[in-house]
Amino acid sequence: MANIQVQAFKDRSAGTEVQLVNLSKIYQNVKAVDNVNLIIEKGEFLTLLGPSGSGKTTTLSMIAGFQFPTSGDILFNGEPINYLPPEKRNIGMVFQNYALFPHMTVAQNIAFPLEMRKFEKKSIAKEVNKALKIVRLEGYGQRYIKQISGGQAQRVALARAIVYNPTVLLMDEPLGALDKKLREEMQIEIKHIHEELGLTVIYVTHDQQEALTMSDRIALMNNGQIVQLGSPSELYQKPNSKFVGTFLGESNLWEGTISLKNDDLYEVTALDGVKVRTISTEDFHLNEKVSLLIRPEWPTINDDLVEGQNNLTGTIIETIYMGDFSKYELQLGQETTMVVKTPFVPGQYVCSKGDQVSVSWQYKGGVILKNFDQ
Ligand code: ADP
Repeated sequence: MANIQVQAFKDRSAGTEVQLVNLSKIYQNVKAVDNVNLIIEKGEFLTLLGPSGSGKTTTLSMIAGFQFPTSGDILFNGEPINYLPPEKRNIGMVFQNYALFPHMTVAQNIAFPLEMRKFEKKSIAKEVNKALKIVRLEGYGQRYIKQISGGQAQRVALARAIVYNPTVLLMDEPLGALDKKLREEMQIEIKHIHEELGLTVIYVTHDQQEALTMSDRIALMNNGQIVQLGSPSELYQKPNSKFVGTFLGESNLWEGTISLKNDDLYEVTALDGVKVRTISTEDFHLNEKVSLLIRPEWPTINDDLVEGQNNLTGTIIETIYMGDFSKYELQLGQETTMVVKTPFVPGQYVCSKGDQVSVSWQYKGGVILKNFDQ
């Protein structure tokens, strides 16, 4: 994954605070957005993440003003804007199908929104140059759209969206059409632009890696609702449901029962009798049926038992070499298996199928989840 090094925010006050209050949208009998409440702070980079059909685009369209809410309100800096037309909301927009005008040059495309807003000719040229510089396309102004690459076209779309200094930038799967490498480059670009301009960004994607990489906070949606809101690390380390835990990242998920409880330390017994300990700040009662989530990179494969941690022994039933790390599947009980991901270090012992190994992980390296969702 690309390593993003962003400088500290210059100034976030250039952005607008966007508030969604009991926001719903119902199409015939489909509840596309179901009573969403959310405050997106000035200058924040917030991502709406979720599977296809979870209501991300509909939420974004209502913020843009393309769709009217069935009920609820949208507030910009505390002011309701439900009935303000899109062009009066001071928002920029970038979509996957960026719809640039092919018969116009790059500069003409970027100038278009300024002309629509009746900017003076002289200031148009200045603003276009400034926008070209921000998206690192200086010198490309006179090219036609067909003379530039897909990645450059996406930069032009971005320049066109920010050229009139909007205070909110809405992006709907903007990198969906690009290949992986270009997508990762553009993720960094967009982060830099966000840092530089300090505007509020609301970003829609179904790509969990993209959301983890780019966002200050992620609102994870399912069935029209926000099911968890938090920083990327909060969602990854502390998912609040099986849905979040499995949608975001890889996980080992075991069904089990709480078999011991001592303050915040719980013992969970899996269906086949495998016992492990986990610390949780949530309250569970004895004999409660729960699920236990363990990320594949939390355990380590060891030669010896590790004091004060979970230690299990098992057999390697699958090995997958992935370049920078190896993935092992272990059989730990009759039913219980576990995928363990370990960094690949040349010279270190590499496990093979059939090896007997011990695996250990800390008591805090697990998340106990209530069993009420899927
Ligand atoms: P996402 O962006 O997460 O893929 P959408 O907001 O596009 O989700 O869609 C949410 C739900 O609303 C889906 O069930 C979708 O089929 C439905 N939907 C979206 N737009 C319309 C529409 N114009 N008419 C009827 N149903 C729609």
